[in-house]
Amino acid sequence: MKAFICTTCGTQFAPSAAPPDACLICEDERQYVPLTGQAWTTLDRLQLSHMPIFRYEAELMAVGIAPAFGINQRALIVPTAQGNVLWDCVSLISDAMVGLIQGIGGIQAIAISHPHYYTTQVEWSRAFGGIPVHLHAADREWVMRPDPCIQFWECETKEIAPGLTLIRTGGHYEGGTVMHWQQGHGGRGAILSGDLLQVVADRKHLGFMRSYPNYIPLGARAVEAVAGRVAPFAYDAIYGAFWGGVIPANAKRAMDVSVARHLEWLERPAL
Ligand SMILES: [Zn+2]
Ligand SMILES: [Zn+2]
Repeated sequence: MKAFICTTCGTQFAPSAAPPDACLICEDERQYVPLTGQAWTTLDRLQLSHMPIFRYEAELMAVGIAPAFGINQRALIVPTAQGNVLWDCVSLISDAMVGLIQGIGGIQAIAISHPHYYTTQVEWSRAFGGIPVHLHAADREWVMRPDPCIQFWECETKEIAPGLTLIRTGGHYEGGTVMHWQQGHGGRGAILSGDLLQVVADRKHLGFMRSYPNYIPLGARAVEAVAGRVAPFAYDAIYGAFWGGVIPANAKRAMDVSVARHLEWLERPAL
């Protein structure tokens, strides 16, 4: 039995004798099955075909994969008074990666923004001794490899370590979550946003979409709800999901301007 990994979204499924019939995450309207068809790999094969990248993104050590794999997000390692927390996840995990991360203190917990980044979360948990993986319960149906390490949380916020608070924003996914890091950026705070708040190409604005590959925007009420749930928290930086996707200062203003721009364009009359 092998735990197959979808090569388009990087999600690992529960062990099975044959590859799953389909990837439910890629068949959803927020993702896609490539024209070349559904394809699968395994962690063993990924360890031979790909290698890890460790690099600082602003204040945080980030972990990614080369060459690009799946959605190609990178994860972030966030320090707290109770040890490090891994924010979001990538499909590759290996003994070498575990050794390197142990060298900077290991990780005590994992929190993931939404199902596109669940990837090999169970392998990561087990590699660090069965640490908890915090997922919002509203996205429970998208867990393709159930495991006791997964701790579903409910309601709107949850503090998982001193100064580290998960915030359900909804939007892209109903259980979509960002994480507030109170001590970040000199105590001014940071938001780790996955693609619930998408740091866009100019690194000065954010995008708000139900689907990024299929260009389905969020409506006005959904964007207002996302903004309202983040508004009570103090922050100066936003870390998005992809390499280089960081707004390093004045991020609260970037959020306000981006929300206003999005809402304005939704309401423009025909040109
Ligand atoms: Zn997939
Ligand atoms: Zn996504």
